[in-house]
Amino acid sequence: DEVRELLAARIHDVPDYPKPGVTFKDITPLLADPEAFSALTDVLAALVARHGATKVVGLEARGFILAAPAAVRAGVGFVPVRKAGKLPGATLSQTYDLEYGSAEIEIHAEDLGAGDRVLVIDDVLATGGTADASVQLIRRAGAEVAGVAMLLELSFLDGRSRVERALEGAPLDAL
Ligand code: IMP
Repeated sequence: DEVRELLAARIHDVPDYPKPGVTFKDITPLLADPEAFSALTDVLAALVARHGATKVVGLEARGFILAAPAAVRAGVGFVPVRKAGKLPGATLSQTYDLEYGSAEIEIHAEDLGAGDRVLVIDDVLATGGTADASVQLIRRAGAEVAGVAMLLELSFLDGRSRVERALEGAPLDAL
C-alpha cells in the first residue's frame, strides 16, 4: 500500500558497505522524513495494540530509534536489549553465534515481569540471530513474547525460519 511504498522509497541501498559484496540497507533517509517516520511509528504502534503487548523491547542500536516512539504512541513501556557491558543493573545475558565468532546481549531483568507480553522491534532481520537471542532473554526474564516486528527482512538470508522457530507460533511481522 501507500505507506509501504513511502517507507521503501526512504530506505536506501548502499553497495559495498560495510565491506565489499555487502549491500547495506540505510534507514536514515526514512528517519529524516517526518511523514515517513511518523507513518512507520503508527504501523508499529498498531502492531503493539493488535498483539496485545504490554511492553516494547528495542534492539541496540537502530531498533531503539524505531521502538521507543512506537512504545510511547502505543502507551506502553520501552525496554532496551543492549550489547554486553552497557547496562548498570542486574542483567540477564544471552550469547549467540555470528558468522565469525559470537555476540552477547543483555537486558535488565527487573524491567520485565511475569504479566508482561512483549513486542520485539528492530530495523533489519538478517540471519535472525539477534532476534532469536532476544526472544530467549525475554522468556528467561519471565515474560511472554507477543511477537517480533521488523522494518525489513533480508529474505535471501532466511532469518525468518530461525525467528519463527524461536517464536513458537507468535507472529513475525516484516513491513
Ligand atoms: P541478524 O542477527 O543477523 O539478524 O542481524 C540483525 C542485526 O544486524 C540487526 O540489529 C540489524 O540492525 C543489523 N543489520 C544487518 N544488516 C543490516 C543492514 O543492511 N542495514 C542495517 N542493519 C543491518
